[in-house]
Amino acid sequence: MTERLESGAPKAWYGAGLRFGCTSCGACCTGDPGAVWVSALEIARLADHLGMSLGETDRRYLRLRGIRKALHERFNGDCIFYDREGGGCRVYSARPVQCRTWPFWEPLVETRRAWQAVCEACPGCGQGELVSQEIIVRRQALLAKAREGAGQE
Ligand code: SF4
Ligand code: SF4
Repeated sequence: MTERLESGAPKAWYGAGLRFGCTSCGACCTGDPGAVWVSALEIARLADHLGMSLGETDRRYLRLRGIRKALHERFNGDCIFYDREGGGCRVYSARPVQCRTWPFWEPLVETRRAWQAVCEACPGCGQGELVSQEIIVRRQALLAKAREGAGQE
């Protein structure tokens, strides 16, 4: 019989929760190029945080990839908002949902093996606060909604 959570949802392999405590190493904000997608709402939040107009925020920090907007990256792959001089994320309180929900994206927790690979890349995974399956699923739903807003399926 399928084990279920109190909410009635089927228990995932991580039904007992997963540990995560960011060490602020910056690995997920730097290095290999990637894409941090942003919706109109997230862009407005960033503009507000930066005290800039939407147009200025767009010009300085965003790039168009196909029909979607993503954060700009430096030549070395670092996120445009990452400060290597020790400041970390310069827009932390207004960072996009994609950053807020890392490392609990669906493909990353789909299997134990996938999670293990994330743990090898991110020193914060597998340690720190125990995050329940309910919260993980809620974060995934939040990300799905933000991606719809960013024009991503
Ligand atoms: S790689 Fe992990 S520990 Fe390092 S900054 Fe990103 S989330 Fe935090
Ligand atoms: S917005 Fe902040 S948390 Fe997100 S990738 Fe850039 S530096 Fe990292």
